[in-house]
Amino acid sequence: MHTRIDLYSDTKTRPSPGMRAAMAGATVGDEQAGEDPATLALCARVAGLLGMEAGVFLPSGTMANLVAILVHARPGDELIADSQSHIVCTEAAGAAAIGGVAVYPLESPHGIFDAAQVAGAIRPPGRTSPRTAMLCVEQTTNFAGGAVWSIGQLKGVRDVAQGAGLACHMDGARLLNASAATGMAPSDYAQGWDSAWIDLTKGLGCPVGAVLCGTGHFIERAWEWKYRLGGAMRQSGVLAAAGLYALDNHLEQLPRDHENAALIWRALAASQLFRFDPPVPQTNILRFAFSDAWIDNAGFAGRCLERGVRVRAIDRGFVRVTTHLDISADMAAAAAATMLSVAHEMRGEASGG
Ligand SMILES: *Cc1c(COP(=O)(O)O)cnc(C)c1O
Repeated sequence: MHTRIDLYSDTKTRPSPGMRAAMAGATVGDEQAGEDPATLALCARVAGLLGMEAGVFLPSGTMANLVAILVHARPGDELIADSQSHIVCTEAAGAAAIGGVAVYPLESPHGIFDAAQVAGAIRPPGRTSPRTAMLCVEQTTNFAGGAVWSIGQLKGVRDVAQGAGLACHMDGARLLNASAATGMAPSDYAQGWDSAWIDLTKGLGCPVGAVLCGTGHFIERAWEWKYRLGGAMRQSGVLAAAGLYALDNHLEQLPRDHENAALIWRALAASQLFRFDPPVPQTNILRFAFSDAWIDNAGFAGRCLERGVRVRAIDRGFVRVTTHLDISADMAAAAAATMLSVAHEMRGEASGG
């Protein structure tokens, strides 16, 4: 059946007519040579937003993480990241495959670990141990359920890491969602981090791209890796223009995405069949399992899809539901009603024999 309501990911948005017009009208040049005006403007704008010196436009957030790892770490080094993070779960082990960098995964509730865990993961220097080179956090946490790191939590892990000489990297794919949820500026969250990036293709609703930021020196080194990995572009202004348009027009819609996630949560939480983790959604991501052992996440997602609602079965028996620019409150309510009736139906079948 045709998918009417796609909550699989906030990457499912289509560029709006206004965004397409902005892309068509972009002033362009050669990005690889540093001559594309819209790309330069976008990088400067995002760097300003994050309180960092400079930025570089990349085809994806996955490449932003990889480039940062390649700059901060050498083959044989180790990085610390949450076990459910995007770097660990869904980047085809790029850190290991391309950078020769090992990962030390931390277990945590909702992707938010603490300073003591970081201290415990940093290996004392020695002939036989990997060199711990880097700490990575996700703001907000993706597969761990859309949770927001507080400034204090960020500073706690960062102080320990930087005290031991580690580089600190923020995967800010949804950093702007954190800001929309709490009112803290993106630069407040990114302050003190050695590198951070935002995705253009999540809440901002662009078709392509991410902007990685850091010091001028970091960005020069990031450029080398961008080029080596084949990420340098030419008239990328047609893509950057979408980012500029989104920062002008779509930022203020992020709170609406969060309200729609809360709307779905309220509808489902009333039924006792769903077990939410985190217990209350903090941003545009809902993550839940089922109180009833008979309901499995993949079966649930399949049934919802038959009824035109697409949700995502993820690791550890969870379902992830993501609201975004192309989801209205009515669509969120309709999706919640479908999810509720599917869960009741599955439980009824299980208990009815
Ligand atoms: C989506 C995402 C990425 C990867 O970004 P792409 O632009 O899809 O490559 C990395 N980290 C997190 C936390 C994400 O949600």
